[in-house]
Amino acid sequence: MKLSCANCFTRTAVLMSTLMFGLGAMAQSASEEYLLLEHLRVIVGDGPVLSDASLLLRGDTIAAVGQSAEMAIPIGTRRVDLTGKTIMPAMIDAHAHLGYEGANSWGAQNYNLDNLVDHLNRYAYYGFGAVFSAGSDPDAFALELQRLQASGEVGGARFVFAAGMAPPGQGPNNQFLVEALEVERQTGNTILRGLESPEQAREAVQEVAALHIPFIKLWVDDRGGSQEKLRPEIYRAAIAEANRLGLGAVVHQQFAEDMLDLIDAGTRGFLHGRLEEGFTEQIANAVKQHDVFIVPNLGLSELRREAIGDDEFLAQSLQANVAERLSASAQRQALPERNPQLEQTLHNSFDYMRNANVDVVLGTDAGAVPYHPFGYTGHKELEIFVRHGMSTAQAIAAATSVAARVLGLEDAGQIKPGFSADLLILDENPLDDIRNTQKIHQVYLRGELLDRDAMAAIFTAN
Ligand SMILES: [Zn+2]
Repeated sequence: MKLSCANCFTRTAVLMSTLMFGLGAMAQSASEEYLLLEHLRVIVGDGPVLSDASLLLRGDTIAAVGQSAEMAIPIGTRRVDLTGKTIMPAMIDAHAHLGYEGANSWGAQNYNLDNLVDHLNRYAYYGFGAVFSAGSDPDAFALELQRLQASGEVGGARFVFAAGMAPPGQGPNNQFLVEALEVERQTGNTILRGLESPEQAREAVQEVAALHIPFIKLWVDDRGGSQEKLRPEIYRAAIAEANRLGLGAVVHQQFAEDMLDLIDAGTRGFLHGRLEEGFTEQIANAVKQHDVFIVPNLGLSELRREAIGDDEFLAQSLQANVAERLSASAQRQALPERNPQLEQTLHNSFDYMRNANVDVVLGTDAGAVPYHPFGYTGHKELEIFVRHGMSTAQAIAAATSVAARVLGLEDAGQIKPGFSADLLILDENPLDDIRNTQKIHQVYLRGELLDRDAMAAIFTAN
């Protein structure tokens, strides 16, 4: 079966309209009506916090933000009193892999438009306005998904992606690699561009630039000796060409020791912190000096040992049998023991990053392995950030304004006039306790209030 994009849309058009009706979130985005969300605490996203403030939305955009008593309100504006609530920008996950996860399996067989939309809707449900899928998507197919989203035919969190690059026939972990190659075969698209020489690496980057894909993702990892590690002269050529053409080069690096040369080569960001071993003050300083960002990505190893299926915040979006599978067992505990030495090392690494004022960005690697769920894991990652010494305000910035800046999402991640009305409304203040990002009252994406109950009913149906 070939998943050409034209086919996908026709095949799924009926289902899409059902979804849109069911979710009530994607209709009439062209509306220019005014909506006032009033009497809120506003966490702007890049630092400031306003008390008793109001937001005026016009259609899909934030038109004004200010003290409630001072707002000029156009005639005919619909008003919603949200006294006691806190509003922050919808969050952004800067490292995920969409499309492969299914309720009862993981792999190429699940990769299709319906499943991608399901994943984007799961992000939306959990208060995310955008997600960066890191190098595992078929290029023409992913561009078509972006087009459908831009035209309002598909909703959910905004889909951003990178073109993957590695030595020929390599890249993701061996299990993932087999499935990515199968999706390439199914779609006839390219996911992974194999790099063999500096000259050919430059050509591959030019090809990506011509497709208007703004990022390349490079894998620099020998997977414990089972793959070839991308050679420095090749990644240097690819990164330099990306920078010359205005593309961001983001990297999966194997070890902290790989970071200095990759920084020197012009890397834009690291999708794994490698903060567990070998991360030094010197690396943190070099990261800052070259304006590179770091996605710590710690939940991936931590949450697989936790009984996350017993967490109601996750279970509310899972089919019962999946929640059961992720609940307490020999492998998963309510409070798994932590290695004190590792905890101390991570604390130190976060200290180095904080002292150097490094751009720390939220990213989860959700979808890269089975049962590292979309959206939910982002909230848990913020808990990990705070546990290792980030302030709640810094964690929120990592999930909003900083993530938007490094991904080039100029109208996302802040609550300011002109920004997209992608908003997370909470019952409690996350500045008091970062776990309050999980007390979701409502989510707006592009000015539309999501019907989260209807969404949960779809997610949990068998
Ligand atoms: Zn990844």
